[in-house]
Amino acid sequence: MLKTNAYAAPTAGTPLAPYSFERREPGPEDVLIDILYCGVCHSDIHQARDEWGGSIFPMVPGHEIVGRVAAVGSKVTRFAVGDIAGVGCMVDSCRTCHPCRDDHEQFCEKGAAWTYNGTEMDRRTPTFGGYSTRIVVAERFTLKVPAGLDLAAAAPLLCAGITTYSPLRQWQCSPGDRVGVVGLGGLGHMAVKLAASMGAEVTVLSTSAAKGADALRLGAHAFESTRDQATFKKVAGRLDLIIDTISAPHDYNAYLGLLRVRGAMVLLGVPPQPTPVAAFMLISGNRRLAGSLIGGIAETQEMLDHCAKHGIVSDIEVIPIQQINEAYERMIRGDVRYRFVIDIASLAG
Ligand code: NAP
Ligand code: ZN
Ligand code: ZN
Repeated sequence: MLKTNAYAAPTAGTPLAPYSFERREPGPEDVLIDILYCGVCHSDIHQARDEWGGSIFPMVPGHEIVGRVAAVGSKVTRFAVGDIAGVGCMVDSCRTCHPCRDDHEQFCEKGAAWTYNGTEMDRRTPTFGGYSTRIVVAERFTLKVPAGLDLAAAAPLLCAGITTYSPLRQWQCSPGDRVGVVGLGGLGHMAVKLAASMGAEVTVLSTSAAKGADALRLGAHAFESTRDQATFKKVAGRLDLIIDTISAPHDYNAYLGLLRVRGAMVLLGVPPQPTPVAAFMLISGNRRLAGSLIGGIAETQEMLDHCAKHGIVSDIEVIPIQQINEAYERMIRGDVRYRFVIDIASLAG
């Protein structure tokens, strides 16, 4: 067994604290990765505070992992010791059901093995995430991080990147499309960069007027404050696609009114409480309300390659793990530009 240093939430909502546990030795199809960087996703906060229910403790969060391959199993062919590798929200799945064969492992009929707050496919062994010094992952769930990407800034691509890339592709984001990005945080700023790279005309809708200049620098064509009710009249009926990344409850109906006829709003944010949707907002204009959960492994690799081609990484603030609790508080206040990334060297020793 491999002793692993980490930070864990001991129980729901208590501050994260140093923790150590043992990883399994890599099996024939596994890759052992020494973690270099791990991004901090708002889903880490929701789960560490048990806001969605069913959380398992102690919890080592973290599913935006970049590291260096330290060992490979005898049947591993795509990775060698020393390679730079990435791990996202899943570490395994049944690999044989319809969604798994269709490259939608996140919808595995047996339930994917989530990177943390879940179990391995044996359904007994708890999984622990990337706020730790190393991880053992099935080769099939290990991503190649293309050369040339800054490693710390590439880490958030493993969740924030794929979660925004997948719906843009699914809804066929094309040059000239008018895309609204709601909420300019970790996911939102990636949505802006990715939609702009696909040729879309991006409008950021945000509660934080101070983020206006950043929105334009990130590639948006317009920035609108949602604190100003006039915005909802000004943008009404204009957008082809809305990517909603807000982490807290908010009125979906107000944003649905911004869609053109047959436009679609895709929910990515997962507020803990439900919000009513008025049928009229969908019926008038045949508007569509949809959701999207991360993306499959093949699409994650496609996204990484797209980012390498377009020179896209996350805008980050690197922190030592010792600042993780403060980082959570700052994220809840919307005070992050635009992703915290933990330097795992701070866990050494
Ligand atoms: P984040 O960095 O904290 O960004 C969320 C943004 O939402 C904030 O920066 C803020 O943007 C806006 N916001 C926050 N509270 C708000 C409020 N009360 N009213 C209006 N706007 C508010 O979070 P993230 O990591 O991007 O994650 C966003 C959400 O997506 C979370 O719920 C997370 O769990 C979820 N998520 C889903 C998936 C998936 O597969 N669907 C994957 C990853 C994460 P402004 O300051 O611009 O208003
Ligand atoms: Zn995430
Ligand atoms: Zn499956």
